[in-house]
Amino acid sequence: MIKIFSYSYSLRPLTSLNAITPVKEREGALLKIEWPDGKTGYADLHPWPELGDAPLAAHLQDLAKGKISSLVEQSIWLARKDAQLRADKKNYFDEGVPLKNNFILSQVKGVVPGFLDEIKSEGFTSVKVKVGRDLQGEIGFLTHLAAAGLAIRLDFNAIGSWQIFEKFMSQVPPTVRPFIEYIEDPFPYDEKSWSEAQKLAPIAVDNEFHKVRWNRDEKPPFDVMVVKPARVDVDKAVEYCKKWNLKMTITSSMDHPVGVAHAVGVAMELKKLHGDMILDAGCMTHRLYQMDLFATELFTQGPYFAKGRGYGVGFDNILKALKWYPVKNS
Ligand code: MG
Repeated sequence: MIKIFSYSYSLRPLTSLNAITPVKEREGALLKIEWPDGKTGYADLHPWPELGDAPLAAHLQDLAKGKISSLVEQSIWLARKDAQLRADKKNYFDEGVPLKNNFILSQVKGVVPGFLDEIKSEGFTSVKVKVGRDLQGEIGFLTHLAAAGLAIRLDFNAIGSWQIFEKFMSQVPPTVRPFIEYIEDPFPYDEKSWSEAQKLAPIAVDNEFHKVRWNRDEKPPFDVMVVKPARVDVDKAVEYCKKWNLKMTITSSMDHPVGVAHAVGVAMELKKLHGDMILDAGCMTHRLYQMDLFATELFTQGPYFAKGRGYGVGFDNILKALKWYPVKNS
C-alpha cells in the first residue's frame, strides 16, 4: 500500500490571473507519497474550480476513500518521478535539457514600453499575454511587442466567441501578425470554427483539450498543444503530437512552486527526448504570486530556470520541515 500525506497551502496572487478569475487566495495541497519499495516523492495538487475542477477538499476526501481523480493521478505520477530521482540522488536538472520560458503578463494594463526592452535584454524572446478583458488596449499593446521583436503567445481562455475572435484578429495590424506564435483556446472548442480560426492565426489547445475527439482520421484543428503535466497525461499528449505533427508547449498550472518545478523538469526531459517538437516552455508562473519560502528556492536566469538545491524537484529541507497529515477518512 502506498501512504499519502498532505500539506494544505494558499497562494496569494499579485493581480487577477486571467479574464475569468478574480483576485483571491488560491488553495492547494502538497502531497508526500511513500511507496512500499521505500521511495518517497512529492508533488502538488492544485485544482482550478474556475475551470470545472472539484474543490481541493473533494479530491482529498475521495483520495481518502481510495478514489483517485485525474488530477490526483497526475500528482501521483509526478511524485513517483520525484521519488525515483531522490532514490538515485539526482535532480531534474541532472537529466534534462534546459529550455527557455516565455515571459508571462497576466494583464497589459500599466505595462510601459521600456519594460519590454528590459525583458528582452534579460534574454526573453517570447511573451505570453492573457487577453479578452480590453481588446482595444490589448491590440495596442501587441504593436509594442511586435516592435520589440518579441514572439507573441495569446490566451483567450476560451471566453468569448468566434465573432469576438474574428473582430480581434481583423484589428491586429498586418505588421503584428507575423509575430503571433499562436493563440491559445481562442473560444470554446468546436472543430469547424477552430478550423476557421486557424486561417487567421496558428491555434493552440490548452484547457479545451478534453473536448477534442482524437480518434478521428483527420488532423485536429490546431497547431500546438499546451500541456500541463499537472493536468494532462503527458505520454498520451506526446503520442498525439507525434501522430499529428503538432508542437508542444509545457506549462505549469499556475500552481505551487513544487508544481512549477515538476513542470520544468518534465519540460527538460521532453526537450531532451523530442527536440524541436518541444517549444519554449511557460513555467514562470510563480511570479504571479507573492513570494513565499518555496519560491525563494526557484532560481531563474533570464528565461531559464537554474538548478536549485536538493534532489528531484528540490526543496528538500523545506519539505522535510512541513507538518504532514495522513490522507484518511475523517
Ligand atoms: Mg491557457
